[in-house]
Amino acid sequence: MGRSEKDIPLLAMHPLIFASNNPHKVAEIKPLMPSGIQIITLSNAGIDIDIAEPHATLEENAAEKSQVIYNLTHLDCFSEDTGLEVSALNGEPGVKSARYAGEPANHDANINLLLKNLKGVEYRRARFRTVISLRWKGQHYLFEGVCSGTILPVQRGDKGFGYDSVFMPDGSHRSFAEMELEEKSKYSHRTKALSGMIAFLQTEI
Ligand code: IMP
Repeated sequence: MGRSEKDIPLLAMHPLIFASNNPHKVAEIKPLMPSGIQIITLSNAGIDIDIAEPHATLEENAAEKSQVIYNLTHLDCFSEDTGLEVSALNGEPGVKSARYAGEPANHDANINLLLKNLKGVEYRRARFRTVISLRWKGQHYLFEGVCSGTILPVQRGDKGFGYDSVFMPDGSHRSFAEMELEEKSKYSHRTKALSGMIAFLQTEI
């Protein structure tokens, strides 16, 4: 029988800060972590900051977020940055996904702009790409996860967050927003990036 988190004394667990304020991302990530790792969210750590994403690549933004949190805490930590890359829009919104329709970031406005820009476009291939930046024992590691699919002509479903209601992953007839968390996890870019990090952590703990 496998061990669950509650079988392991807290002191035996390795704390790892997840540098995100997004409760949806925390909910996706927590159930997948190995039992020897204790995920600490920014709010658990008493850190209330909105970390900027000023760079031209997901890799640089993710690295900056984990560096900011490492500088504040000197604890092992990881961050992630995700972009939706649409073929017919030359990879946009990409690294600008959170603020596609401008400041302040607004999911509905972003989706409306995306659907407007794809109006009448038949070729609707797109992919989510997640980059995780891990600061572990003084070293820096990057992990990538990609999920390919199509952009739907209208929103479908009310679960999830961000662009979930307009993205249908390859191999499914449902949008991410029509899926329970567990089903989204089977396809998700974030799960794939996380799998790389988890495989690494399992060699370390
Ligand atoms: P960030 O990684 O939080 O900066 O995400 C960039 C943008 O993509 C934001 O608008 C998010 O809401 C959106 N986003 C990130 N991950 C997902 C996802 O798994 N599904 C749908 N939208 C997402």
